[in-house]
Amino acid sequence: MGRYFKRKWLQSNISGGINLRNKLHKKEYDKTRYKENKEILVKQHNVWCKNNRGKATLYMKKWRSNNKDKLSEQNKRYRLKNSIKLHDYNRNRSKEQKLRCYNHYSNYNIKCNCCGERRIEFLSIDHIYDNGKERRKIHAHGRRLYSWIIRNNFPNEFQILCMNCNFAKGHDKNHICPHLKELIVIDRVCIA
Ligand SMILES: [Zn+2]
Ligand SMILES: [Zn+2]
Repeated sequence: MGRYFKRKWLQSNISGGINLRNKLHKKEYDKTRYKENKEILVKQHNVWCKNNRGKATLYMKKWRSNNKDKLSEQNKRYRLKNSIKLHDYNRNRSKEQKLRCYNHYSNYNIKCNCCGERRIEFLSIDHIYDNGKERRKIHAHGRRLYSWIIRNNFPNEFQILCMNCNFAKGHDKNHICPHLKELIVIDRVCIA
């Protein structure tokens, strides 16, 4: 884009004797030129970006780091203007991510890994190794946990448990759900 403006500007202004160093004037000229030729210029820019991906990303990185304040203000304005849309989008996305995690950890047969509870409203993600407190410092919790799990390619430290089993397991000395304890007792009686 820059080159296009410069060439056009030089063509039309050099003979007119306007001071070439007049940056303000050039800026205004660029703006009007851009508005007049927006479609062509955007197309040209997109083609250039496709052909020079490395350069384009480098340029964008540099621009972002130099315009942090401007960007955060833009983001703020956008979030304010589109708050409802964004809220819906985030909710749908985290629902989808939750389902993906549940499907992965229950082998596409979503249920509690202990008692078999199938109602998704009762289910939760559990840290198998009972190190939830430590792990929560490393990864996020709540809704953000799902995106963390997906980003980290579904680590083996999680399972699906219903709230009852999760809670009971968490409050047991040996971190064993009463369901499992009962099974152990029955096993012992059977063996005896
Ligand atoms: Zn359960
Ligand atoms: Zn249980």
